[in-house]
Amino acid sequence: MLETQKLRRDFPILERQENGKRLVYLDNAATSQKPRKVLEAIEHYYRCHNANVHRGAYGLAVEATDAYEAARTTVARFVNAWTREAVVFTRGTTESINLVAGSWGRANVQRGDSVVVTAMDHHSNIVPWQILCQEKGAKLRMVEITADGRIDLADYGKALDAKPKLVAFPYVSNSLGTVNPAAQLSKLAHAAGAVTVVDGAQSTPHLRVDVQALDCDFYAFSGHKMLAPMGSGALVAKPALLDAMPPYHGGGEMIERVWDDRSTWNKVPHKFEGGTPNVEAAVGLEAAIAYLEHLGMDRVAEHEQELARVAIERLSQIEGVTIYGPRDHRAGVVPFTYGDVHPHDLATILDRDGVCIRAGHHCTQPLMRRLGVAATARASFYIYNDVDDVDVLVSAVRKAGELFGVPA
Ligand code: PLP
Repeated sequence: MLETQKLRRDFPILERQENGKRLVYLDNAATSQKPRKVLEAIEHYYRCHNANVHRGAYGLAVEATDAYEAARTTVARFVNAWTREAVVFTRGTTESINLVAGSWGRANVQRGDSVVVTAMDHHSNIVPWQILCQEKGAKLRMVEITADGRIDLADYGKALDAKPKLVAFPYVSNSLGTVNPAAQLSKLAHAAGAVTVVDGAQSTPHLRVDVQALDCDFYAFSGHKMLAPMGSGALVAKPALLDAMPPYHGGGEMIERVWDDRSTWNKVPHKFEGGTPNVEAAVGLEAAIAYLEHLGMDRVAEHEQELARVAIERLSQIEGVTIYGPRDHRAGVVPFTYGDVHPHDLATILDRDGVCIRAGHHCTQPLMRRLGVAATARASFYIYNDVDDVDVLVSAVRKAGELFGVPA
């Protein structure tokens, strides 16, 4: 296990008290807290190097550009991208997926084609494809999940029989914690002639990611879930695909030449980074990656999986608690319901004990319908959580049960 007592000291916000109690932050699947190193990197950037990037001939602008481009190299290394130009900075997973739908999708998906997503996808890996399919007259096919919360491979095979143009799926489910066999899913999709989009929002912060080993075509992730600032993240894609794609946003920096009536495009990745980019986000993301790499992603994954195992074991001992998602191949996400207590009420009561959990549909309404619930409570772990946090969670849930009279 990681040395959580030591790590916590790196996160100023964890010194906060909540209702007179130690803050037990268990909403990491929504966003993580930020270590001092990330906060300092951002401050240092603004204090010492701030200028607009890629534009200035003066030293400060060169320094800002170097900082921004160094962050790109770091991201490329972290996920083992094909080249550093394969990394397009975005505001996060949602923007990355919209970029693929708006650019590759518009150029390649035609009337009568199909696009495949799964019933465990986050809305940000469903809605952009719905918009595209509605615009193009294409069919959106949603692959079912099994009773234990995995992608139903038989149904996936059937969806591939229709020779879809594109297949999108999450590496890790934010609502079930399932770690999907992404390399296998990508291989099967490629054999059917499809391009693959992997939603890496919940994998990149928590597992060792190797996009070349996954052999996906597009990989999207958000920095804010992995210690980096809000509004940071990237789309990582096979360079040949990016080269062939039309731009997404028009504006400064993404062009080569502009005439009165037409333009030519800058090289990849700049073709997709129109306008002034979020340099502080890139700099903060680089510092976050350095922090995670120092811990080692294998240790991070092991730590969270162990916490999820203990949480599932201890929560399951409470009569009336139902845990969702598979028992193995899962990340540090523990979704549950408790009798007929509404998850929002549960979250509000837990807050009194300083415990922050999420309650709701977690932006996965199609999945909630299949689970037969309107909402779940969700505890999600990260590097600064430990078994003490699990125990605080479990006793707060027990207390809530007494308050609400569960089981009735
Ligand atoms: N995909 C998954 C699996 C997620 O968990 C999330 C956020 O919770 C997203 C996509 C969207 O990420 P963002 O809001 O950072 O764009």
